Amino acid sequence: MTAPVATARIALWEGGTGVGVSSVPVPRLKPGEVLVEVRLATVCGCVRDAVRERRLGSLPSVLGHEGVGTVVGVGRGAEALGTDGVSLAPGMRVVWGRDVGCGTCGACTAGQGAACPDSRELGHQPMTDAWVLSGSLASHLVLPRGAGVAVVPAGVPDAVASPSGCALTVAAAAIDRAGPLAGRRVVVLGAGLIGLAALAMAIEAGAASTTVVEPRGKRRRRALRFGADAALDCDARVPACDVIIDAAGGADTFARVLDSLAAGGTAVVAGTRSQVPDATVDLERLSRDGISLLGLGRPHGRHLAQAVAFIASTHALRPWADIVSAPRGLDGVVEAIAHSGGTIARVAIAPRG
Ligand SMILES: [Zn+2]
Ligand SMILES: [Zn+2]
Repeated sequence: MTAPVATARIALWEGGTGVGVSSVPVPRLKPGEVLVEVRLATVCGCVRDAVRERRLGSLPSVLGHEGVGTVVGVGRGAEALGTDGVSLAPGMRVVWGRDVGCGTCGACTAGQGAACPDSRELGHQPMTDAWVLSGSLASHLVLPRGAGVAVVPAGVPDAVASPSGCALTVAAAAIDRAGPLAGRRVVVLGAGLIGLAALAMAIEAGAASTTVVEPRGKRRRRALRFGADAALDCDARVPACDVIIDAAGGADTFARVLDSLAAGGTAVVAGTRSQVPDATVDLERLSRDGISLLGLGRPHGRHLAQAVAFIASTHALRPWADIVSAPRGLDGVVEAIAHSGGTIARVAIAPRG
């Protein structure tokens, strides 16, 4: 179909620390593709790390994982389905996952897009004619077939919904990986947004206790406001626990807290940990005590659906909106990246503002 808008504004990263704003034509939609007008985007740590560490190999690239927007077009010729099987149509408010399967291979058609061998990552792609609008930091975004898309229930504010596609999906995947949490003592390492979301999900899953380990005092206090039973500095003694969820707590902290994991316990490594030294793990103890040390892998589409369901049902219980900044325009992306990762968990961008 012909796109309902002619041009889009994008935050285009061409290397270095500079991010420019450009206008590009909105491409004609292929069958089943979804064109979204971005209402609000949030700058996750992945964007900050990519730019600071110049991680991308292929440039230029439209940045941005997280966002919430309104469907304004669906490419004719194929149905576009959300993660819960809903047929997507103009007017729906949606969020999207960061990993995009090819949409056609066996894994994708079986609903296992996370296992797709040709998976791409939104906001981390070279901008090519095949996928121009490939990041959330833009007025418009094209979600190819194979993208995870979830409808946002009414009543969830944009600022609360926006991080669903990255931070909350990662947290949901980590909780899934950890197994049933009812009655278990849970320690979360790191009180960034992934850590806060994992904390909130652990509480709602019936954890017997929750402890957050975090070096920054403001973040520790924030974790307490989100319901943690205790928030400890990294050098404090951590009580015995059954589950550790490492949301980028740092290698040394991880190795030390692992000593507090009870026999039969599970540790899930969920945070990105670029440029940190390796942790030393006592393999003999892992074997003797039956400890499970699990990596996260790529989140599945169901984790996006779980993240949205979680935030929709519980967002009123915690001050999610307080940890997202007032929105800046797309021209403020460079500043937003510089400010991300501090005590404000997310800097928001209103691309059309
Ligand atoms: Zn991200
Ligand atoms: Zn595929």
